[in-house]
Amino acid sequence: MAEGVYDPGNIFAKILRGEIPSHRVYEDDAIVAFMDVMPQGTGHTLVVPKAPSRNILDADPAIFKPLFAIVQKVAVAVKKAFDADGVTIVQFNEPASGQTVFHLHVHVIPRFDGVPLKPHSGQMEKPEVLAENAGKIRAALGS
Ligand code: 5GP
Repeated sequence: MAEGVYDPGNIFAKILRGEIPSHRVYEDDAIVAFMDVMPQGTGHTLVVPKAPSRNILDADPAIFKPLFAIVQKVAVAVKKAFDADGVTIVQFNEPASGQTVFHLHVHVIPRFDGVPLKPHSGQMEKPEVLAENAGKIRAALGS
């Protein structure tokens, strides 16, 4: 796949098509949010537009309003769900920046005073932990 070209075989496209499982916390016509399988902290969630783009560089700007509305909703929900002290929002564009999955997504990571982030794309979390955390976020979202 040439650099800069959207690959419909990327892992998030497969998740969006339901070809591989995810722990979803939110879905509407335009946006899905699910747990990161290698969380950098408890409750690390990814907010993903359904429309295909590699990242912010090639996205239709019309997506940013609904995308960031849900980023905010999820940020408020994870803060509540885990009684977090803060929330880190991160978004990577192309390999030089650290991007590893080439479908636009925004990381929403609950933060706790004095607790550093774990490595990006580090260790896999147990599915039962992801399921439990997803349940807490869904409850905080009221869904
Ligand atoms: P990026 O580096 O592209 O900003 O972030 C990709 C994120 O996707 C990483 O934090 C990584 O842990 C996560 N990830 C990679 N593969 C999967 C997967 O199959 N399912 C889920 N839910 N997350 C994934």
